Amino acid sequence: MSFTQRFFTAILPKRWAEDMRAESLAWMMRCPCGFERSVWEMGGIRWKARGNPKRLITCPKCGQRTWHSVYRSTQTPP
Ligand SMILES: [Zn+2]
Repeated sequence: MSFTQRFFTAILPKRWAEDMRAESLAWMMRCPCGFERSVWEMGGIRWKARGNPKRLITCPKCGQRTWHSVYRSTQTPP
């Protein structure tokens, strides 16, 4: 877990922390190269959130700093 994840897991009630983790795992980040991984696996948290933002991060697969689409895994990728 990243520092942020450990911090929130420590301060939140267990049930909320589990909900936060489950929801962060359901949100995916997708690189234009096709690589995708959940927000939680990338060390982030996305909880009680809506919309499809873009995040400028370095892709672990292609090594490029690209705009990743964030979408819920239950939606079709944009
Ligand atoms: Zn990539």
